[in-house]
Amino acid sequence: MRIVKRADGYYCQFLVDVDTREKIEPSYSEIGLDVGLNHFYTNDKGNQIENPRFYRQGEKALNRLNRRKSKKYIKSAKPQSNNYHKARKRYALKHLKISRQRKDHAVKLARCVITSNDVVAYEDLRIANLVKNHNLAKSITDAGWYQFRVWLEYFGYKFGKITIAVPPQYTSVNCSECGAKVTKTLSTRTHKCKCGCVLDRDENAARNILSIGLSTVGHTGFQAWGDETSILAAEKLSE
Ligand SMILES: [Zn+2]
Repeated sequence: MRIVKRADGYYCQFLVDVDTREKIEPSYSEIGLDVGLNHFYTNDKGNQIENPRFYRQGEKALNRLNRRKSKKYIKSAKPQSNNYHKARKRYALKHLKISRQRKDHAVKLARCVITSNDVVAYEDLRIANLVKNHNLAKSITDAGWYQFRVWLEYFGYKFGKITIAVPPQYTSVNCSECGAKVTKTLSTRTHKCKCGCVLDRDENAARNILSIGLSTVGHTGFQAWGDETSILAAEKLSE
């Protein structure tokens, strides 16, 4: 058990060791996800999930409250004014509200993706890389992806589905049809290849992510076979 302090009060959390795994019917489908700034994600079939509305609204509100808080801060004052503490509290409460909305969105979406697919491939984006270009406005989106990924992996474990994080290199450059390199600037929204393949930029990336993911799954099986031979070899040695 632990006591946690949040902006709106104290919470008591209990840690209970329970096996929450469930068996569900296979869906016989797989999915590749490309996360981006324009949409929350684009999948390999071209379907897009929009960024939740509270992302943009929340960013604006947070920036506003943060400015108000800074204005009330007096450098020389030792105990800060009541107005400062009020502004600080408002900012903290908004932060808490957004993080709860973000979590709710991530949990529902991740559960839906996992239960309707057997294999889920997505980019292995490092949170450190994402927040390199740090500003408050972008951080809500970044934290949203990170949390979504964490919940994908949790539900993957819970429902016995395969989740694969693939290296993000070249996923948007390569052609998902023929593998040729098609360089694009950030503003190029459409992937056009000499082979005749024309796709939305993000859909092309999602297809690449899925095929890299599926080839990785193949490797896992191979490795398992390798392990078995090494067990046999070890047994032979001990004879
Ligand atoms: Zn091509």
